[in-house]
Amino acid sequence: MIRLKAKGSLLCALLWSVSLFNFSASIPDEGMFPLSELSRAGLKKAGLKIAEKDIYNPGQIGLVDALVQVSGCSGSFVSPNGLIITNHHCAFSAVQLASSPEFNYLKNGFVAHTYEQEIEAQGLTIRITKSYEDVSEEILNAVASIDDPAERINVIHKMRSEIAKRAEAEDPTIKAEVSEMFIGKSYVLFRYQTIEDVRLVYVPRQDIGEFGGETDNWVWPRHTGDFSFLRAYVAPDGSSAKYAKENVPYQPKKHLKVNPKGVNENDFVFILGYPGRTFRHRPAQYVEYQQKYLLPYTSELYDFQNQQMLAVGKEDPKTELALATRIKRNANVMKNYRGKLKGLQNLDLVGSKRKEDEALTKFIASKPDLKAQYGTLMADIDKHYQVVFEMAPKELWFNNIYSSMSLLRIAYTIQDFKEAILKQNGLQAQEEVFALNINQVKEYLDNIYGSYDLTVDKNIARRMFEDAYQLDGSNQLNYFAKKNFTRKEEAGDYIVAALDKSKLNRKETLYDMILKDIQSLKHYNDELLTTQKGLAAERETFDAEQKRREGMLNRLMGDYVAVKEQYQAKNFIPDANSTLRLTFGNIKGYSPNDATYMRPFTTIKGLIEKGNSGLAEYEYPESIKTAWLAKNFGAYLKKDLNDVPVNILYNMDTTGGNSGSPIMNAHGELIGVNFDRAYDATINDFAWSEDYSRSIGVDIRYVLWIADKIDNAQFILKEMGI
Ligand code: ASP
Repeated sequence: MIRLKAKGSLLCALLWSVSLFNFSASIPDEGMFPLSELSRAGLKKAGLKIAEKDIYNPGQIGLVDALVQVSGCSGSFVSPNGLIITNHHCAFSAVQLASSPEFNYLKNGFVAHTYEQEIEAQGLTIRITKSYEDVSEEILNAVASIDDPAERINVIHKMRSEIAKRAEAEDPTIKAEVSEMFIGKSYVLFRYQTIEDVRLVYVPRQDIGEFGGETDNWVWPRHTGDFSFLRAYVAPDGSSAKYAKENVPYQPKKHLKVNPKGVNENDFVFILGYPGRTFRHRPAQYVEYQQKYLLPYTSELYDFQNQQMLAVGKEDPKTELALATRIKRNANVMKNYRGKLKGLQNLDLVGSKRKEDEALTKFIASKPDLKAQYGTLMADIDKHYQVVFEMAPKELWFNNIYSSMSLLRIAYTIQDFKEAILKQNGLQAQEEVFALNINQVKEYLDNIYGSYDLTVDKNIARRMFEDAYQLDGSNQLNYFAKKNFTRKEEAGDYIVAALDKSKLNRKETLYDMILKDIQSLKHYNDELLTTQKGLAAERETFDAEQKRREGMLNRLMGDYVAVKEQYQAKNFIPDANSTLRLTFGNIKGYSPNDATYMRPFTTIKGLIEKGNSGLAEYEYPESIKTAWLAKNFGAYLKKDLNDVPVNILYNMDTTGGNSGSPIMNAHGELIGVNFDRAYDATINDFAWSEDYSRSIGVDIRYVLWIADKIDNAQFILKEMGI
């Protein structure tokens, strides 16, 4: 999304909003407690040794003030000078952007011994939750008498943004957001402080931070040093400011105390963080949609994309580096989705959800008042999903075409910019809009070109266009119907030729020939731009239909949760939605397969054993082996293991977005950093279970050992007071 500026106002241009339908399961719903529900969690009984109000106490300082959201991840302050600990994979894209084949920080790591040596972590921003307020009543009252589904969703969106704007006007130092807690049922206004200047402080080398690579991703036992350190900076007057030399380290209200002694098996632990999304309060059909359509389609597409990128990257180190983040993100999602598919099959979640829904249908029928209010609810849900199933191929194609093809996004941006200019009255106004936006447009395009390769784009475009040619019936795209291709290969050849001929396919050509002045931009056209325009127009119609369905679903899901709460006679905990949550549990092993028991700690010994396999992803720095052989464990030894613990396993309820979350002991001290889940726990997003839900963190003793003994980054320990 890029916001083009108009004179005095903002022209908001929506790019390719990847608006998926979100549906899901339930079974155990507890685990990710919003701040408002902390008292329901039973923390003291479970083993918390500090007062609950030491975690969160409105108007006072608590542990939550040490928590940050780092772009899509979580993190925490660990010093009074804005030092943040998060995951290596959360800083990955920023490290990639700071790297070049000559200074490859991704591969070799990065250590800044002084503030001056710290470098900008491009693309990373920080949010800190300041306060929250329930605004459900205001929103629900506004839609109470609206029947039209599209109108209903429009008003909800409008109200959410108006309430947020009102909060920002009341306090211009904050950013506000209204989050939907339960679809169509409850809404909370969150006020955030934001920090835009984030810098890299210490990032271990890739064969530590990403040890095990994709082979070990979503896998236990694990030996990954998935940590990194960043620093938050603000303007000298304390306000949030973009990266600037004169900015100063931010002084958080609270930072976490690090306990270098770590934890033991069965110890009580808790996590504060910003879990992304879960879908537990959804009907059976939502899970069915995931299992039959979304998960297989996406994992297969990402697999194909990665094959293209890996093949091209092999030929050239610069391209390899440029594509690294895209490949990593795809691979991460792909494996997660395959894990979910395995879990869905093994557990037959759709089957058990269906039974639950049947019981709910009977419950509604058995109570006259419920029957009067919700009599058609379950049938309406089913009707809704039948349409979703039918249109899934087209929806998935549309939701992936722009994110798959860099050049289509570039074409969209150019077209959008061009149209914003052409809309102006007279040349002078056009010139002004051009001048006002050109830098921002280029900045946006730089980002896309930063991870772009023409061959990759052409191969992906061919595949996507051949797929689209084969969509038929109600899924057929008008654009393709009009084109009269006779074979799928023709559709593929057509788009490849368009990309080959377009001047957009080289950044330099685009900047020097088309974006050099307003006349060149106004008069440029090519087949790629025309294609993009055709698709965008059709997408608009499709989006309108999606919005209508979203509006329907909004009401249905609101009712579904309300009646289900009555049926189960309890209040649910809302699904994760990127807002601050607490989860707790214990350091605990598990038994994922017959006759198997997984212990909850791994060691350097295990890391070295993996290395003996000869697999490239298990290569590690020789200095690790040297220090280990010399038993140079320092204070980081865990006596019963006679080794330094590397990763830990626990039964807390986490999901994507919890990456980088601090793991704390009963006293609220940091003892590790969450970074992943075991393969079976990928299904957490639909249903959590004590049997298979296990998450993975890096033990603080390993972080400290690496910093101290391997990377000579003792300054980090000193700054954290160790
Ligand atoms: N590593 C995970 C992620 O990709 C964290 C998780 O989902 O548990 O976000």
